[in-house]
Amino acid sequence: MTDQPVIHWFRRDLRLTDNRALNAALASGKPVVTVFIFDPRILNSRNVGAPRMSFMLNALDNLQTTIWKNGGRLLFMRGVPEKALPDLVEQTGAAAVYCNRDYTPYAKRRDDHVNEGLTVPLRIYDDALIMQPGSVMTNKGDPYTVYTPFKKKWRSQITRDDYTIHDTPSGDLYRIQNVDTHDFPSLKDLGFQSFDVPAASEEHAKQRLEAFSDSTIYAYDERRNELTIDPFDADGGTSQLSPYFRMGILSPRQAFTAAAKAGENAPDKDAKASVTAWADELIWREFYSHVMAHYPHVYGGNFNATYDNLEWQHDPEGLAAWKEGQTGYPVIDAAMRQLKAVGWLPNRVRMIVSSFLTKDQLIDWREGERHFMQYLIDGDPAANNGGWQWAAGTGTDAQPYFRIFNPVSQSKKFDPAGDYIRRWVPELTDLGGDDIHEPWKLKQPPKAYPEPILEHKAARERTLDAFKRARES
Ligand code: FAD
Repeated sequence: MTDQPVIHWFRRDLRLTDNRALNAALASGKPVVTVFIFDPRILNSRNVGAPRMSFMLNALDNLQTTIWKNGGRLLFMRGVPEKALPDLVEQTGAAAVYCNRDYTPYAKRRDDHVNEGLTVPLRIYDDALIMQPGSVMTNKGDPYTVYTPFKKKWRSQITRDDYTIHDTPSGDLYRIQNVDTHDFPSLKDLGFQSFDVPAASEEHAKQRLEAFSDSTIYAYDERRNELTIDPFDADGGTSQLSPYFRMGILSPRQAFTAAAKAGENAPDKDAKASVTAWADELIWREFYSHVMAHYPHVYGGNFNATYDNLEWQHDPEGLAAWKEGQTGYPVIDAAMRQLKAVGWLPNRVRMIVSSFLTKDQLIDWREGERHFMQYLIDGDPAANNGGWQWAAGTGTDAQPYFRIFNPVSQSKKFDPAGDYIRRWVPELTDLGGDDIHEPWKLKQPPKAYPEPILEHKAARERTLDAFKRARES
């Protein structure tokens, strides 16, 4: 290389469009070396499993193809970034390293160490959220700990500039260098089994966003709680874009722009309200990232210390039954089997199974959080932690401790015909009516299906007592 290059370090921003750090690297006018580093600490973490890894490799494969079509090459390295990046700087003589900010406690520590070890500047850009942590604060200057006032402030502050999409000028992509790279690793090389995942390209994400925001978004409010949303089917009631946000294949600005356009084109008041409801979910995503950035103790600890003394049950058998979909509660078992089979669950189902584990089984939310992280393609430390602490009643916007979902009522309400259960629990295929929601009431329950591992009413009382004791201690 004759010109001194700069490096763009891809992490959870696996796209070329509207990528703040990559755009800045290209705008420097220097050649750009793009790199992705497989960090063994992440690969070996108990929070990582085959579904998300498969999706990520799929995304990286697509990214390298697009870069290659533009004449460049994506470099793959293995090792800790604190060592890999200084080596790469030395090898290439790069003048700076560019990347986008990640808000998890681990990522912050890693980036601090990388920064200390580099002899050139590490330029970090805000990209993964529309509003950055620190920019949406109470009038007293404190972080918000409740969603609704956060949302109001967020909405009152947002300007068109905040969600303007900055397309990467395709003419500039030629600056990405064609470097010698190691072979693209296989999942097996990285220690994971293969897992079927949806296509993880930018093109695919854009098409899905477009299809959703052209039509389904207008019925979002009405359909969002359907359990039978077919994962990654075009006609799901929700966008199913979470894996794309997770890996940064789609930017939140692209999503918010699509929502704004859908709002302008909405045919009536209800349709417009539906669009707002969807955009509010994008704000939930921002909220939980802000919570994690301001209160890193939530990663591993209760947001609300009142519950630090809560006596969770040590129940390995119950936990295994929950994980394997063998609790004897059909809706729970359908969900847990779906999670293992496809690596994704509709939000309503996530709420039902997290409530069951924490409030019926009284098992520590951290067990559920980890299991979800292992299996979810969209497993996101901030959103997942927020969701689990909400369900457990220990979080910011927690479901109050005395509000305990009845799994049978939830099942009847959101899967009235039992189609969801029938799809994932073949032992119950022949049942209909109320029987499919509570087969133990039948004179002859299906033999192949387990009896319920607990009785909801008694479990509820036990949980209320445990929470009461924790609050009084
Ligand atoms: P849509 O309904 O189309 O919403 C659009 C986007 O908004 C989503 O893609 C997501 O990025 C964001 N969003 C929606 N709901 C939430 C929410 N409650 N909190 C934060 N962001 C939200 N979401 C994850 O992305 N990763 C997780 O690991 C995760 N774990 C969860 C665990 C539990 C226990 C619970 C209750 C929820 C969890 N969620 C998680 C939130 C939510 O269930 C998913 O974001 C949603 O189901 C994804 O489907 P979708 O893309 O069709 O969402």
